[in-house]
Formats: sequence, structure tokens, C-alpha cells
Amino acid sequence: MWKIVLVVLLTFTGASPAWAELNVVATLPWIGSLAKEIGQDKITVTTLVKPSQDPHLVEAKPSMILAGRKADILMYNGLDLEIGYLPLILESSRNPRIVPGQPGNLDCSRYAQVIEKSTSVDRSMGDVHPLGNPHYHFSPPNMLRVASGMTDVLAGLDRNNGDFYRENFKIFSRKLEQRLKDWQALNPRGKKFVAYHKLFEYLAAEFGLRIMAYVEPKPGIPPSAAHVEGLIDIMKSSNPAGILTTGYYGRKEAESLGGKTGVKVIILPADVGAMEGTEDWFAFMDKTLTSLP
Ligand SMILES: [Zn+2]
Repeated sequence: MWKIVLVVLLTFTGASPAWAELNVVATLPWIGSLAKEIGQDKITVTTLVKPSQDPHLVEAKPSMILAGRKADILMYNGLDLEIGYLPLILESSRNPRIVPGQPGNLDCSRYAQVIEKSTSVDRSMGDVHPLGNPHYHFSPPNMLRVASGMTDVLAGLDRNNGDFYRENFKIFSRKLEQRLKDWQALNPRGKKFVAYHKLFEYLAAEFGLRIMAYVEPKPGIPPSAAHVEGLIDIMKSSNPAGILTTGYYGRKEAESLGGKTGVKVIILPADVGAMEGTEDWFAFMDKTLTSLP
């Protein structure tokens, strides 16, 4: 009997039942991981980009548009990192809940302290980071700010579970504080590196690494032979502790450079799930910091 009443009620109101899980769509794996820390079993998370994909070069797929159509909330990195596919998903999914300005449209960079904000935005120069460095998921303080913002937004959309989300944020915050001490104790401070892409600037800023040169002359631009020659000279005279890169791009170039200079290539996870033992954001940071010499 109750079931019948319920079905009739839902049919007439068109509303989701109060206990339905919030349907979260996250563009990148770290965003999905953070959402899960806060939402736990009160949300379902669909992540659009695979950890093995280069996040700068993602293209929209029909499955992404379908996910967007069903989303209660769309969470994304922002700073134009998703410019190649997000506008199309927003337009084609025709979901009024996730359009900009709605609470279901969560640009996580809104909560981050962004570095390398450029004064002149000129994509013709090839720089794929015109609004500042978008890779702030390597920054624990930024993750704390983003998780706090996510908590507010989730609690606003799903008031019945507001206390649950806030409690999970407290647990997340305490865990982060503890793990940050562990990571700082690894003390990579002052060590010099060459990096393929400007992916590790927040890591460098937080933990005191020195990134002295880049294999890419500008973010998104592959190196010329002359640039590589210059880099080899710099590396021979200053002897960095490693060449930092990821599994999905830059690896071949980094290995070639490592072969020519004798400098060790260090593969770091680009995102949660990109390497074994990086199943959530904490494990991802663990792997990153313990991989440094
Ligand atoms: Zn980038």
C-alpha cells in the first residue's frame, strides 16, 4: 500500500525521493575522490576523465553528455583546463541544474588560491594555462579549501544530509592535517628538479622544491632541438635531483633527456588512480611525495 502511495506521489510531484543519492559528475579523478570523501554513500560519483588521460587533451564523448544530463551537480577543475570538452557537455546535455550560476555548477578553482595568473591572455602563444596554473590538486591547503566549498554546496543541495557532509569534512580536515605533517617530514625542501610540464608548481611551492627548468618551453608546447640542447647544458652544470614527469605524456622526452645527462627520471602520478597505490587523494599525495628522492 505504501509503495503505491509513494509511486503516485512521485508521479505527481515529479520529485526525487528524499533519500535518493545525489548524482555527482566530476570531470577529473581527484575531484571525484574529494567528493567521495565528503559525500560517502549519500552521493554517486561519475568521473568523466580517466586517470591515464592527458587532462589537457580530452574530447567530449556521448557518454559524457549522457552523464551530464543526469547530474544533480557537475564539479570541475576550472581555469580553462576543461575548455576542450566542458562547454559542449554543458550545451548538449540540456540540464538546467548544471548551467553556470546554478548551485549544481561547481567550479572548484573558485575556492583555490591560484598561482601563475598571467597578465596577458594570449592563446596564440600556445600557453594552455592562460588563467593561471590549473594543477592545484597537488596543494593540500587548496584541497582543504575546495573540500570545504564542496561541503557547503552539497549541504545546500541536500539539506537532509547537511550534518553528515559537515562531519565528513571535519574528518577529512583532521586527516589532511596529520598527513601534511608526514609529508613535510619527508623533507624534499631545496632539492632541484627539471620538469616536463608545469604540473608540479603547487607541489614545489608547498614543499619547497626548486623547479629550475622545463622540458616544454611553454605549457603545451613541445620542445625544439635547440631548447633541449640548452636544457642539457643547464642540467650538466647544475646537476638536478631528477626529471619530473608523468606516465601519460612527456615520458619519452624525459627519458631521452635522462639518457643524455645521467639525471634520473621520476614518474609521478598526474592524478588520483594514475599509478598503482593512488586510489584516493591521500594515497595520490603519498605516492607523489615518497617518489621524490
Ligand atoms: Zn597543464
